[in-house]
Amino acid sequence: MLRCVDYNICSVNNRIRIFDIFITTIPERALHQPPRPGMVVRVPHEGGGYILKNFIARLKRRNNKRKTQVMKLPFVPKRVIFEKEALQYPLGEKLWGYFRDQGVETGFATTHNRITTIPGKTPAEGYFEGKRTLVVGVRRTLKFETCKPSAHFQLPLATSCPGKCEYCYLLTNLGKKPYLRVYVNIDEILAAARDYIEKRKPEVTVFEGAATSDPVAVEPYTGLLGRAIEFFGAQEYGRFRFVTKFTDVDSLLDVPHHGHTRFRFSINARQVIDRFEHATPSLPERLTAAQKVAAAGYPLGFLVAPIIAEKGWQESYRELFQTLAAGFGHASGLTFEFITHRFTKRAKANILEVFPGTGLSLDEEARTFKFGQFGYGKYVYPGELLKEIRAEFEVMAKEFFPGAEVKYFV
Ligand code: SF4
Repeated sequence: MLRCVDYNICSVNNRIRIFDIFITTIPERALHQPPRPGMVVRVPHEGGGYILKNFIARLKRRNNKRKTQVMKLPFVPKRVIFEKEALQYPLGEKLWGYFRDQGVETGFATTHNRITTIPGKTPAEGYFEGKRTLVVGVRRTLKFETCKPSAHFQLPLATSCPGKCEYCYLLTNLGKKPYLRVYVNIDEILAAARDYIEKRKPEVTVFEGAATSDPVAVEPYTGLLGRAIEFFGAQEYGRFRFVTKFTDVDSLLDVPHHGHTRFRFSINARQVIDRFEHATPSLPERLTAAQKVAAAGYPLGFLVAPIIAEKGWQESYRELFQTLAAGFGHASGLTFEFITHRFTKRAKANILEVFPGTGLSLDEEARTFKFGQFGYGKYVYPGELLKEIRAEFEVMAKEFFPGAEVKYFV
């Protein structure tokens, strides 16, 4: 038996769409069935990205005459749960109508903090069902958390994301069923941001929109990022930044940002993406989205995270920089942020429950323990290795992007 990632495939207008992804256990022989639209593709958990690519290549060959194209569907929730109060806001009402029209299962909860109706008998089932659940709520706490080192404050727009990365930093504090959540009281959230800006001016205050989520994945439904970008576009002393692996950027290209929002893409070495990320766009897709964003005049950045120092890491990350330089070597005003792999005890326990066959290195003995800003400790690479990684990344940044700014390395 193999631990597997399942991709559902369907064919719409001769385009093959891949959606939905979940872990299951299947007999090995099931891997060798011929591909056809409508089937569920079963891909071994480790190296899933590579096998999926081969599968798609075979599928394309079979369907050659029909000029098959492969595309990933945007995130479609399996169920959407509303706080009743959310329906009193225009966005809540809009989302309610939209998902009802789409025939998506809907329900109500008394608070967005405690959702008890998500199924899942095992931790893995609970995790995957959580990732298919969207909760629409009202943000009541308008006191923003700090957000070092990337910004002064977090801007709370959403939590969680439909990606299923084994290394995800959110596995520490999003619970066993990390459902997606969006806040509909955007006017109140932005009014609170304005107060923070007023208190600090004439210093510029920077807000991070992706501290607890990847907000781009749900943007086609909510438009929250668009609202925030427009708001910050009009702020003399306020700046906005967020980071994403997702590529649903088209609705943001025409927003009047006035250069006040930095759009960053989270990228990684091919091997890391193939082994540890599931349900995220590929690197070329992210870079295509980054090109669009740069063409729309946004300040652009890349976050390389988590840097995983596995065998051959120097070559893997050099290859990443070469690929980047081919597309963005002449871009001006680029920024980089580098974050090495770290994990907490709680994240490790969750990762091992959801991805028991993970190839991630989670050996506490091989790490150094360090206290973080949120009061819990984390396991980071030991000092000597950190120094080596840092030196290597500084060299590559200078070599391939001499004009870029490295914001931080942690
Ligand atoms: S895309 Fe980012 S937020 Fe989403 S699962 Fe992956 S690491 Fe976590």
